[in-house]
Amino acid sequence: MRSLTVEEARLRAESLRVDRYTIDLDLDRGPDLFASRAEITFAAASAVDTFVDVKPTQLTSAYLDGAEVAVADLEDGRLPLRLDAGQHVLIVQADMPLRNDGEGIHRAVDPADGNTYLYGMSFLDAAPSVFACFDQPDLKARFRISVTAPTGWTVLGNTRATQVSPGRWELSESVPLSTYHLTVVAGPYHSVTREHDGILLGIHAAQSLAEHLDKDADEIFDVTARAFDEYHRLFGIRYPFGDYHQAFVPEFNAGAMENPGCVTFRDSMVFRSQVPDSERSDRARVIVHEMAHMWFGDLVTMRWWDDLWLNESFAEYMAYRLTGAVSPFQDSWVDFAYFRKRWGLVADQRPSTHPVAGNGAPDAETALSDFDGISYAKGAAALKQLKAFLGDDIFLEGVRRHLRAHSYGNATLDDLFGAWQDAGAKDLDRWVEGWLRTPGADTLRVQGGRLTRTAPAEYPAHRPHGLTVRHLPTGTEHQDQHIEMAGDSARLTWQPTAGTLIIPDAGDDTWANVRYDEYTLAALPGRIGSIADPVTRGAIWLAVRDATADAELSCEFVLTLLEAALPVETEDIAIQSLSGWADNLLLSQYLGGDRQSRDRVAAVVEKRLATASPGSGLQLAAALGFATVQSGSSILPGWLAGEAPPGLVMDAEMRWATLTSLARSGAASLDDIEAELRRDTSAQGVIHAARCRASLPESEAKQAAWQGIMTNAGLSNYEVFALCEGFWRAEHSDLLEPYVERYFDEIATTSAIRTGWLVAETGRLAFPAYAATEATVDRAERLLADASLPSGLRRSVADATDDLRRAIRVRAAKPASRLMS
Ligand SMILES: [Zn+2]
Repeated sequence: MRSLTVEEARLRAESLRVDRYTIDLDLDRGPDLFASRAEITFAAASAVDTFVDVKPTQLTSAYLDGAEVAVADLEDGRLPLRLDAGQHVLIVQADMPLRNDGEGIHRAVDPADGNTYLYGMSFLDAAPSVFACFDQPDLKARFRISVTAPTGWTVLGNTRATQVSPGRWELSESVPLSTYHLTVVAGPYHSVTREHDGILLGIHAAQSLAEHLDKDADEIFDVTARAFDEYHRLFGIRYPFGDYHQAFVPEFNAGAMENPGCVTFRDSMVFRSQVPDSERSDRARVIVHEMAHMWFGDLVTMRWWDDLWLNESFAEYMAYRLTGAVSPFQDSWVDFAYFRKRWGLVADQRPSTHPVAGNGAPDAETALSDFDGISYAKGAAALKQLKAFLGDDIFLEGVRRHLRAHSYGNATLDDLFGAWQDAGAKDLDRWVEGWLRTPGADTLRVQGGRLTRTAPAEYPAHRPHGLTVRHLPTGTEHQDQHIEMAGDSARLTWQPTAGTLIIPDAGDDTWANVRYDEYTLAALPGRIGSIADPVTRGAIWLAVRDATADAELSCEFVLTLLEAALPVETEDIAIQSLSGWADNLLLSQYLGGDRQSRDRVAAVVEKRLATASPGSGLQLAAALGFATVQSGSSILPGWLAGEAPPGLVMDAEMRWATLTSLARSGAASLDDIEAELRRDTSAQGVIHAARCRASLPESEAKQAAWQGIMTNAGLSNYEVFALCEGFWRAEHSDLLEPYVERYFDEIATTSAIRTGWLVAETGRLAFPAYAATEATVDRAERLLADASLPSGLRRSVADATDDLRRAIRVRAAKPASRLMS
């Protein structure tokens, strides 16, 4: 399907003004499709040939100002329109697909009770598979929506929905919205409502999650209410969209989507099993993030997708800034150091890196690839630096001016920076050029008594860094030096000496690859366990993991550091992050499935598990971490038989994590998986079982999983992802060898049976990441040379190939010394 280009969007926005969409959806037409009628009232500035976007199963009829438009002219999702200057009414009726890929109107059947749930995801370019529209962010219009649904269902949307007769719902007229903001959520959802400061708050989830939603309702409402108070204070504009619903929906692709008035979240955020506090903290941040979008993204929307940082970087920054103040969770910046920042720094070193702002997305489909660690984490880190550079008063005053000036409209990078200048900001041009318009991360190194900055050769730029350097001589004392580094070097108060640590950016404030001096590296394994600040430990692991990926530190050194750090690590985030990284990269990509190394990591996680307080989040994180990294441990089979460590609750998720681990090492059978599925008939159970089956080291299991990934259009997005996750395991490399070639032969064919997000994500997850050989790289390059490869898939393959090249370099380096040369 053709994707709208920025030039086409510009031309259409110049010619058209859209006033109103009146939409009628009949969602009671069976499992495959729904009926959609869109009446669009709009005006053309002059006579123009243009088109309306519509991607139906079948286009039933179209009338422009009462005259029939030939439906046979529909091509590639576009129905051509020849317009005179002046007012027009276009009425388009179509049968639209109910989808299983998380886009358009997604339909899911809950295996626990057979209930059907629908939700709308119009994001990016999916709106035309819900209703005919001029689908681009800067053609905002008012919406009136009516819905027919099976009786007994609940219907929600961007505005208040009222049931006017059994199964018939009318939604009140909206303020001007972009087409990608539209959602309708429909099904026998379980709902809880409250009110705060005159705003009706609703939370919703499937019936089978009702007791879990009820249990967490206070926590979710409390964060929501306090974040509203905080945003009202910071932005000076009241929440503009009426009621505020948060619907936890099945098989959702992203974490959440900021539909005005009706945010959709993945329903794994309704916790049916015990979770470490880090996951509650993460959910609070997602709630706060989506709320920020009500202002940044929804009230003021980027003109085109190349400015999506105006949405995402802001929401990300506000979530990390605010969550500690509006929730009990104080570990946001720890999470940032361990997870988010790593995501972005890795992306910023790839050939596919792009500037935070003005990413140059030529069409909507390409923009999807830029919803990455750069648009989120790097943008947030840049805003954190900008706030420090401007001072919070000017920072917030600029934001308020920007939001006031463009409410219900669209804006660009220049508009926002204009607002900051009006608020008193000076000398912004060079800052914007270096941080937002130029990609790449500087490297900061301790060299003698100086901290030096090296810009990547391809992306030289003026990037000032504000950061803290921490000096840790022997003992527990430390000293900090704050540095504003505008040039390429700054003097340090201390010289590196034996036994001491010098940690640049100990507060994790800037955006850079950090490299330590030789003395610091030598002392690190002996000292890391006594560093009290978890953000500093996160910053250290960021630097160590980055240097390892660049083959500058040996895997042996990292194993030693893990052995020193993990047994005394106090943050569940750190245990999760490091065990996941060890499993995926260190043990699988870099060490090629080496059994002895895996046993070493498993032994230290087990040590942490043994000393964690019974029933604590740390114990849970360590247990999950152990299941992630162990292979063939003698204690794990007992966990399912009632011999788990005291305090560890073997609830559904913990049982599945254990069984997945056992399946992977060949210590569980297909029968064990089916037995577990009979215990847990939920949607999550079905997904876990799929992952377990794909994890078995048996050729039939692998063959079945592969067939599902490559050819089964009937699988939901979550089933496909689970099969991919279970399939590739470094320890199964002999069994999987034939599939390396098959991936490159077959992956492009999945774009014939799936679309958008799902294709790109499958391309990423199904990639043979552990086949780190030059032959794999050559084969990948041949695939990338095929110009017909869809852009999302191309990006996934290119990035995974870049990771392979790094893995090959790491494997080729001699593991004898700490430092590699
Ligand atoms: Zn967002």
